[in-house]
Amino acid sequence: MKIVVCIKQVPSTNEVRLDPETHAIIRDGRQSVINPFDNYAVELAVQLKEKLGGTVTALSMGIPATERLLRDTESRGADAACLLSDRAFAGADTLATSYALSLGVKAMGGADLILCGKMAVDGDTAQIGPELAENLGIHHVTDVSEILEANEEYFVVRKATETGSRVLKVQLPALLTVQKDIVMPRLPTISGIRFSLNAPFTVFNAAEAKADTSRTGFAGSPTQVVKTFTPDGKREAQPITGSASEQAAQILKIFKEEA
Ligand SMILES: Cc1cc2nc3c(=O)[nH]c(=O)nc-3n(C[C@H](O)[C@H](O)[C@H](O)COP(=O)(O)OP(=O)(O)OC[C@H]3O[C@@H](n4cnc5c(N)ncnc54)[C@H](O)[C@@H]3O)c2cc1C
Repeated sequence: MKIVVCIKQVPSTNEVRLDPETHAIIRDGRQSVINPFDNYAVELAVQLKEKLGGTVTALSMGIPATERLLRDTESRGADAACLLSDRAFAGADTLATSYALSLGVKAMGGADLILCGKMAVDGDTAQIGPELAENLGIHHVTDVSEILEANEEYFVVRKATETGSRVLKVQLPALLTVQKDIVMPRLPTISGIRFSLNAPFTVFNAAEAKADTSRTGFAGSPTQVVKTFTPDGKREAQPITGSASEQAAQILKIFKEEA
């Protein structure tokens, strides 16, 4: 089974620095980690490879410094890694990111199963998984909390919902986004770290990925961040008292004042 696992580089601290002009996050890789949800996707990919055979390739769209994080996945069981990196990919919203990632999957010759984290802790739109599946024309299930059955043709999974969970059967090729704690991520081993130092590692720029650059980066992003600010958070609590109708009247008055 050919498994591709998508990992995103995210800032490791809350001090996210934003470009004053583009309002995009300044990603210099110095203080960055693998998006926490993706560590569960990496571990699940490796466990499925150990059960069903095949290969695991980690894929990311990011700055050159993302190589360090991709090699970390190779020290924990991934067989190879691929980085989509080019200035033409910078400033991408989810539409442009999922398009670029779909080119990465195609450039690797496709996949039987693609695993993503439930969401990224910085953008946290949870949109990339479903959008990537749509770009590739494959099935997808989001918020998977358990794999109940897995073989070369289909998976039976438990999907978390707001009211509990649902059990779904999905034909391969497919994409799953996984919940936290679906598995327990392993730590890198010494032999894993040694392997990761010279493990297969491919970088695709926009031309090598055959990208239409009008669909990548800022150019390909219908979502433009027009303003970013840190809320001052200095607001006082306003007591709402009296009967239910008096309280409703007070809240309506506040809404009208705020509108
Ligand atoms: C504060 C903030 C708000 C934003 N709001 C929006 C918005 O409203 N709409 C919009 O279109 N864009 C938005 N963006 C941009 C968005 O973050 C990027 O497009 C990003 O590349 C993907 O979206 P996400 O972070 O929400 O990822 P999610 O969709 O939450 O990520 C889900 C999974 O997709 C995979 N994944 C995500 N990004 C990558 C990557 N670069 N490489 C490999 N795998 C990846 C990972 O497995 C991840 O767990 C925002 C960014 C920030 C920082």
